[in-house]
Amino acid sequence: MKKIVLVGTGMVGMSFAYAAMNQNLCDELVLCDINEKRARGEAQDLNHGLAFSKTSMKIYAGSYDDCSDADIVVLCAGVGQKPGETRLQLLQRNLEIFKTIVGPVVESGFDGIFLVATNPVDIMTRITRKLSGFPNSKVIGTGTTLDTARMRYLLGEEFKLDPRSIHGYVIGEHGDSEFVPWSQVTIGPKPIRDEMMDNPNINMEELTGIEENVRHAAYEIIEAKGATYYGIGMAICRVARAILQDENSILTVSARLCGAYGLDKVYIGNPCVVNKDGAVRQIELSMMNTELKKFKESCELLNKTFSELDFGIEKKDE
Ligand code: NAD
Repeated sequence: MKKIVLVGTGMVGMSFAYAAMNQNLCDELVLCDINEKRARGEAQDLNHGLAFSKTSMKIYAGSYDDCSDADIVVLCAGVGQKPGETRLQLLQRNLEIFKTIVGPVVESGFDGIFLVATNPVDIMTRITRKLSGFPNSKVIGTGTTLDTARMRYLLGEEFKLDPRSIHGYVIGEHGDSEFVPWSQVTIGPKPIRDEMMDNPNINMEELTGIEENVRHAAYEIIEAKGATYYGIGMAICRVARAILQDENSILTVSARLCGAYGLDKVYIGNPCVVNKDGAVRQIELSMMNTELKKFKESCELLNKTFSELDFGIEKKDE
């Protein structure tokens, strides 16, 4: 029996829930939100679609007590930026929200995996780890999974190939300092730089354009429709499946580095082995010096932001 509790039934949370239902991801899906009426309405709405789906998933609105025997708690709760508010102020408000969620989830006896999507996701994942006191591997963020999917799609368009045959990753902060280590990208089995020789119309400028496009995709979508949610809903599903099916898949989740690249404590998007125990192994890439420098700068930025937060509680072991 696979059970997921979703906290935060807004656009992102419900896009995940809808994808989960269509993909028959689990046996039981519990919806929690501070707005209980909304969670109940969402559960009702999804249940009315069950007759048309291939799943007999049990879907209901619940409480944090329902986390006691859950495999995964997905965190999509959060607030949006107020006009004039800094990123740090927004982060501080999301920290306060997570304080009201993570404690009760842990108190329920939950012993599964936290999967965080709330932004800024790398910091919110580290916050979840700190508030929960859970082992590092059992707290995961969606990291750059969506960005990686966007990059593979765009490269697939460029090379006229199935994105699944494009192997490469967007790594770093899920945000402005993320980047593509091009030295690690292969088209099928062939390094991208070699493949470019056979495609003289594709040059480095084009690739940089794709990287920029990926970095700014969220801004563009938000400008066009106010928020992004379908893509991330699917990304959460993908990571959740890797956990529930004990896949040992390599995904660019946000997980603690634990010594990779000589770094510790920071949560950041990097290829990681994901299975039923969470993010169990970081894949340390043999990047070029310039790429490694970018990665370390991204880590420093995340560390700085995290250190500026006011937890208002004794700092637990990090
Ligand atoms: P939304 O406003 O539609 O939904 C947020 C939900 O959180 C609301 O239903 C709200 O009632 C709930 N909530 C607020 N405080 C709560 C609390 N204390 N306890 C329980 N529930 C609470 O927002 P959204 O569009 O669904 O976005 C959610 C988060 O996902 C945001 O932080 C957003 O930036 C992030 N996001 C992440 C990615 C990614 O790649 N990781 C992509 C898109 C959006």
